[in-house]
Amino acid sequence: MKESKDSFIIHIGKLWNGPEGSVVEEDFERELDFNPKEIAPKSVIDGHILLVKSKGEITVVLSEIETVVELECERCLTKYGYDIDIESCERTFYSQKPDNDPDFDGIFLINLKDLTIDLYEMIRQEIILHFPLISVCSKGCKGLCPQCGVNRNKKKCKCKEPEIAEENKPFKDLKKLIK
Ligand SMILES: [Zn+2]
Ligand SMILES: [Zn+2]
Repeated sequence: MKESKDSFIIHIGKLWNGPEGSVVEEDFERELDFNPKEIAPKSVIDGHILLVKSKGEITVVLSEIETVVELECERCLTKYGYDIDIESCERTFYSQKPDNDPDFDGIFLINLKDLTIDLYEMIRQEIILHFPLISVCSKGCKGLCPQCGVNRNKKKCKCKEPEIAEENKPFKDLKKLIK
């Protein structure tokens, strides 16, 4: 059977029926699809899963998650591959919605009918959290020429940096003031 790419189902039957404190660990390698406007994966996702059973809940710890996503450089608008590296992250999956928790929507639940949990949303959130603050293809990216639009990493153009007109210079009156 082909694995679904829009869910990441883990069977927890054995763990759930075991004593509190029981642990299951495994490595994984998965292909997942996301909304391409949000995450464009360029590789499989691999990493390590640790599940811990406690009373009424399962704690999921993912570690050493690695994948490559396609991003667009903010300076030259070229697409490039960015390495996502998630050292460790943790979520709790509950058997029922906790009382008096106002934040219902953010809560992960165990599917008690099938005794499964779905790690898809957890991984989606973590990949987005690990996007760079500023997306550039390389530190030295020269970007697009603001005048002719040429990619200055690939081609030189003859445009000159626009000169700031004398009357628009922010400190033009400063000299007068400090005289
Ligand atoms: Zn660039
Ligand atoms: Zn130019």
